[in-house]
Amino acid sequence: MALRETIATFLAAQLDFIFFLYGLAFLFLGTVCFAVGRMREPGSAWKPLGLFGFFHGAGEWLDLSALGVTDTATFALIRTMAMTASFLFLLEFARQKAIRFGLKPLEGPPLYTALILMVMLGGIVGGVPMAGAYARYGIGFFAAVAAASVFVAHARGFSGTARGLALVTAAGFALYGVAAGAVVPAAPFWPASVFNQAWFFQVTGIPIQLVRGLLACVLALSVWMIWGQLLIAEISSERYAAYLRRQFVWTLAAIMTFLACGWVLTDFLGAAYKRDIQKQAQGDINLIASRFAGEAAIVNGTVKALAESPSVLPLLTGGSGQDERRARTVLDLGVEASGARFGAILDISGTLVAASDPVDAADVSKWSAAPWFQKALAGQAGYHFAFDPADRGRYYYASYPVRRDDGSIAGVAFLQKSLDRLDADLRLFVRPNFFVNPDGIVVLTNRPDMMLRALWPLPAEARSTLIRQFGTLDDRAVVEREIKDGSWVLFNGERDLVRRSSIEHSQWSVILAMPGARIYAGRMLGIVATLLMTLMVLIYFFGREYGIRDRIQMNKRVELQELAQNLRLRATTDPLTGLYNRAKFDESLASETARSERYKTPLALIMYDVDHFKQVNDVHGHQTGDDVLVRLSEIVFECIRTTDLLARWGGEEFVILAPGLDGEAAYQAAEKLRAAIEQATFSVAGKITCSFGVAEFSEGDSAATLVARADDALYRAKMRGRNRTELVSRSDSIRGGMASVA
Ligand code: GH3
Ligand code: MG
Ligand code: MG
Repeated sequence: MALRETIATFLAAQLDFIFFLYGLAFLFLGTVCFAVGRMREPGSAWKPLGLFGFFHGAGEWLDLSALGVTDTATFALIRTMAMTASFLFLLEFARQKAIRFGLKPLEGPPLYTALILMVMLGGIVGGVPMAGAYARYGIGFFAAVAAASVFVAHARGFSGTARGLALVTAAGFALYGVAAGAVVPAAPFWPASVFNQAWFFQVTGIPIQLVRGLLACVLALSVWMIWGQLLIAEISSERYAAYLRRQFVWTLAAIMTFLACGWVLTDFLGAAYKRDIQKQAQGDINLIASRFAGEAAIVNGTVKALAESPSVLPLLTGGSGQDERRARTVLDLGVEASGARFGAILDISGTLVAASDPVDAADVSKWSAAPWFQKALAGQAGYHFAFDPADRGRYYYASYPVRRDDGSIAGVAFLQKSLDRLDADLRLFVRPNFFVNPDGIVVLTNRPDMMLRALWPLPAEARSTLIRQFGTLDDRAVVEREIKDGSWVLFNGERDLVRRSSIEHSQWSVILAMPGARIYAGRMLGIVATLLMTLMVLIYFFGREYGIRDRIQMNKRVELQELAQNLRLRATTDPLTGLYNRAKFDESLASETARSERYKTPLALIMYDVDHFKQVNDVHGHQTGDDVLVRLSEIVFECIRTTDLLARWGGEEFVILAPGLDGEAAYQAAEKLRAAIEQATFSVAGKITCSFGVAEFSEGDSAATLVARADDALYRAKMRGRNRTELVSRSDSIRGGMASVA
């Protein structure tokens, strides 16, 4: 049981770090969801899920800041609004998914309007806590369960890892629905009044925020892994998949390490500030207590001196008038010396014998019942604080027995001192301080609103007596149980370190509260450092991942481009010679004839064919034939102009489309080519010759007629003995090395 208590105390002190982790997990979840959403189609349902993560995470961080600074109603309202919005986004995620699954869920706008009105109604009826409870019960719970169903439905369509991840996410959301939507902060209606966070903490010893935070981590991790799976599927590269798995492990390990280090740092900083505050509180409480002690000590000493003074006894035992006068002088001196408000001597029946000032008989009658009187009657010194409801005065009473020479008690001397000066001193302290009676009722304080208020619950049986004693009494306890020295309590929404020191010889005590905000500030420093470290880790790993993914995608793009280029090349070139193929030639021929037609620019076509090529094949083999075609193409390509288009017409027949050349120039060019081929030596085949046919584009020609005429010319060149060039013009006049046939 003691261990449980220790753990509970420890976790309660770590609540800020838990909130931090909790918020961080949800913000991470939001980021990952947006990353998934970007990969998917534009209107992806992952976006509302991402917004849920962002709003919920931000809400948790606001809760975190509310721990440190004094919480206000407005701030609580903002947090409730953030939470409500986050739950609505979660619901929207489930709704959009439901539509995608072919279901017909309720329309968004009317549904959300109704839900928001419901939460607002809760706020109007029972304030912010009620609104929060409505949002959790009415939206949060159902939204989380709906989100869980979405992932269950997804899991059905998957197998292996993807299925496992979807199921883990589903379980995460379902449990989160219970932890955040069913276990709510206390609110003034059933079941929130009973089954709330405080109840959960009492039963389990674990703050519910820890459970929610862990579930948030599970959700963030599983959605992160789902994203990884989607990336692997999209990139479809073994190496990338292996890299991503490695990265996941390393990122996780690094984040955990940094979070652990950050937590140690946070705790260390908090402890350092705590020691500092404790030391300061110790100093302050000692100062206040000694101020009390000093004040009391004078009165205590004086009343003792007074009671023991031989001059006082005659008042009780009967003496001369002079004796009596002397006794009164001693009494007055005592009152004056001790700064007391009043002093008196009573006999053992409580009858007033002498007083420093006139006094009511009613007051005197009360004194005989006072504890300090009883104490003195019993032979002891009586020290007592009392509150007088009649004048709302706070007094210190010191009494002492007046003894006869034989030791028997003849009466009681007492001094009554007002605590007003002490009160003025207490007001000099900035920190809240309280002078409380044994029941915890504040009698002196520098916080006017806390005057005559019970710090902790009054015992039921003493309530009526106390109310009678104090007149008006605010019995709403500030804290749940009696304050112990050195404990942490929640004072007005602020966690304070309290010191309590009891006043000598009485059960009254002085309590000092040191605001824990500085400890919180110290811990916040640790938390911010942790956040920065974690962000650095995330930016490093995700930046690397992004870079690698980008490179892989870039490589893929380049590969694709190359592939496309190859295809284009293959479509237009001849694989053996590397020259343009027939298709490309036809395309160019069409555009060049059109151009010539339009602008009347010269255009010529040269067609040539290897002479007796069959023999080359027959004598040296097909491979040599191929080599001849390649070499021949190189020779011709060297000779033509860059504006000429050389293409393989088919087999061992080639064409040159020569824009800008008329028939005569083309004839000369063909002759030059023919001579170059004739002079060249082919490695295996030896000498090779070609026959050339030339045609000029003229008015009324088409691509087909131009080709036909060139073909005609080539045929004539063959007919006229080969290794020669023939030009066929439109008028069918033939020029050649030989005489005209026609
Ligand atoms: P000529 O043109 O002078 O009348 O005689 P020829 O032997 O060249 O006659 P023909 O046009 O009938 O023969 C062409 C031969 O070229 C037939 C075919 O086997 C060969 N041939 C066509 N394409 C290729 C090729 O790509 N590689 C090789 N090695 N031979 C080819
Ligand atoms: Mg031939
Ligand atoms: Mg041929």
